[in-house]
Amino acid sequence: MVEIKTPGEIDAIRAAGRVVADVLATARAQAAPGARLADLDQAARDVLAKAGATSPFLHYKPGFATVPYPAVICTSVNDAALHGIPGGYRLAPGDLLSVDAGATLDGWVADAAISFTVGPAGDADARLIAVTQDALAAGIAAAVPGGRLGDISAAVGAVGRAAGYGISTELGGHGVGRSMHEDPHIPNRGKARRGMRLVPGLVIAIEPWFMAGGSDECYLDDDGWTIRTADGSRAAHAEHTIAVTADGPVILTRA
Ligand code: MG
Repeated sequence: MVEIKTPGEIDAIRAAGRVVADVLATARAQAAPGARLADLDQAARDVLAKAGATSPFLHYKPGFATVPYPAVICTSVNDAALHGIPGGYRLAPGDLLSVDAGATLDGWVADAAISFTVGPAGDADARLIAVTQDALAAGIAAAVPGGRLGDISAAVGAVGRAAGYGISTELGGHGVGRSMHEDPHIPNRGKARRGMRLVPGLVIAIEPWFMAGGSDECYLDDDGWTIRTADGSRAAHAEHTIAVTADGPVILTRA
């Protein structure tokens, strides 16, 4: 069931979103060559605690998971696209890292992700990251009252396909509110003018993630969480939680 939020509830999600933005900025600042992914997670835990927030990621165990998620951020490096568990791996120059983070504040959740390289990006990574960000912007621009859910999927997918990237429809955007994953599901490609009508008060995470090699195939790593590209190519991910309002889409996961 899709829950429509009041303006006051949207403000509460925006407050959680500010914490998420702070977590992501902190993780990015920590992501120097030699830094362990677990150190980024610890820094993220400190930001959440200082803000009086908790993590909707920690101990999360959806149907596909065999073990509860053990961290507060996802850190996906190179061929890891989503849900990489921050462990002992030390970042190296040129790694492509995506960080996904959530915060629960006063019972409301926000969710966002960024991708960047450790040190200067090569041309291929710079393009992959830029296209993923463009797809996020296109998806957000389509989130207007009177439009349909499929307009968002179509907008995101068109940007990724134009660049020749692989796009899985299995994991994508979703409703956000009292919990991290609410209805509706928003695939990263689809048909425009299909699906539910977009109305003010709809709060959703839009999250394109593209695979540079062009294959749509991915697989679940033996750790039970990490989604990797089947062809071993790199992946990038970008995400904001947004509200559909009468005045258009509003990004809630900003500093
Ligand atoms: Mg999400």
